[in-house]
Amino acid sequence: MVNWSDIDAVIFDVDGTLYDQPRLRAIMARKLLFQVLKKPWSWPEIRLLKDFRALRERLAHEPDIDLAQEQYQRIAAKHGVEPARVRAVVEKWMQRAPLPHLAACRRPGVRSFFRELAQRGIGIGVFSDYPARDKLSAMDLSAQVVICADDPQVNQLKPNPKGLLAVARELGAQPRRCLYIGDRAELDGEAAHRAGMACLIWEPRDTGRPDRFTSFEQLRRNLVGSNPSSEHTP
Ligand SMILES: [Mg+2]
Repeated sequence: MVNWSDIDAVIFDVDGTLYDQPRLRAIMARKLLFQVLKKPWSWPEIRLLKDFRALRERLAHEPDIDLAQEQYQRIAAKHGVEPARVRAVVEKWMQRAPLPHLAACRRPGVRSFFRELAQRGIGIGVFSDYPARDKLSAMDLSAQVVICADDPQVNQLKPNPKGLLAVARELGAQPRRCLYIGDRAELDGEAAHRAGMACLIWEPRDTGRPDRFTSFEQLRRNLVGSNPSSEHTP
């Protein structure tokens, strides 16, 4: 697990890490289906979203792209619409529509883990491939630094380490004293490795690997146990 005496800041991924992503996707799939049944002419929006999500997965493996431009332009060209139209659909369905459902999908123990970190003076940062501020508010979580891949100072997707390094810099923490917590080894783990940070990956079942964890309660117990004398510090 983690040697907490080596850690000054914890940086979190959001999607699939702080909340149950398959559960949220099931809720959103029902919402989208309802939308299509009610307004059949909105079917192109659903196809556009599917293509956008697939493109983002591919762009993660294209080095040094101009993410802010490419992600909307390529889908706009494919669907014969303006990039602003793609952006509006993505913001509506991928950023705003999920917000009311996020609290119900938040992983157990996340809030108390955040609280424990704050009480111990460990910095809290967030780096997500998608905009994260509203999602954090919807889950009643707060971090000192929140940066996403679309932000101008990053403009790159993981596994590019630029975003993680930007969060560490703003937190005033050395990368080697940061821990990144994510849910995808090939993206989160690789980004942390390139940034020179430790990393833990959430997994649904315990495989016994020291760089994996299955619950935030488990992480909190590990953190508290690392310094028993301060367990009762208010
Ligand atoms: Mg994730």
